[in-house]
Amino acid sequence: MTETNQFLSEVISMSICYLNGSYVPLREACLPVTDLAIQRGIGVFDSLRTYGRRPFALTPHLERFFASAEQVHMAPPLGMDELRRIIREGISRMDGDGEVLVRPYLTGGDENRNGTFPSPRLFVLFEPVRRFDDRCYQEGVTLLPLPQPRPHPSVKTIDYLAPSVAKGGRAEFFEALYCPDGEITEAASSSVFLAIEGVLVTAPLSRVLSSITRQVVLTLAREAGFSVEERTPRLEELRLAQECFLASSMKEVMPVVRIGNTLVGNGRPGPVARHLHRLFLQNVERWLE
Ligand SMILES: *Cc1c(COP(=O)(O)O)cnc(C)c1O
Repeated sequence: MTETNQFLSEVISMSICYLNGSYVPLREACLPVTDLAIQRGIGVFDSLRTYGRRPFALTPHLERFFASAEQVHMAPPLGMDELRRIIREGISRMDGDGEVLVRPYLTGGDENRNGTFPSPRLFVLFEPVRRFDDRCYQEGVTLLPLPQPRPHPSVKTIDYLAPSVAKGGRAEFFEALYCPDGEITEAASSSVFLAIEGVLVTAPLSRVLSSITRQVVLTLAREAGFSVEERTPRLEELRLAQECFLASSMKEVMPVVRIGNTLVGNGRPGPVARHLHRLFLQNVERWLE
């Protein structure tokens, strides 16, 4: 076994899955091959984590999960309060006191009735949080610009084929960045901010997924006195930007130092991203449920 496989295997052995009314070791959780998630890539999910074993922004994540399901015409087999209870119990069932990554999924199920999915399957993964390499934060990461939009930007779908194909094994690219018509919208699984002459710029919710971390960063930035513009910046504006960073539940605030061949600012992580990341960590408590 390679070192990565060994690590992955340990993470899997510590993980559990809620499926069909019970919690099972992740290795024992299976979907039938008839499920449309497997056959057609049809499914939605959400992703959140704990701090001090308490879920961060659980309600906004649940609301987004149910909104994703509704937009793709899937009726979840349970309500929001029931899922909240399942998530709390799953967290408490994880061994040890490490932080937990929680991912509820709703898959297409076996039947596609004219674009509606009358019997979707629900499961929830509970896994140990895996931290990103410290170097991502110390040195910043590089994004791979893609010329197309993310399909159905208001839905968190399980379909990550386009960014994955574009990366094609090139380890220098941390994540793909959707830039339809030269506009910077969002990354494959993160929202994106530019800092241009002291103004924070990020795409509006009409163009991107309603990232919970994006909302938290906007709140903290406004409180700290930053000017904020919710508009879609153009790739040409990178020349004027001092900084760029990603925001997501798992990355928190992560500096971006290069997009394709273009260096951002001086090519080093900057004070705005560092400050906002510190504010995020200092204020985590406010969003714990
Ligand atoms: C999950 C995801 C995000 C980040 O959302 P958070 O709620 O902040 O974790 C951003 N963009 C896309 C496309 C995503 O899939």
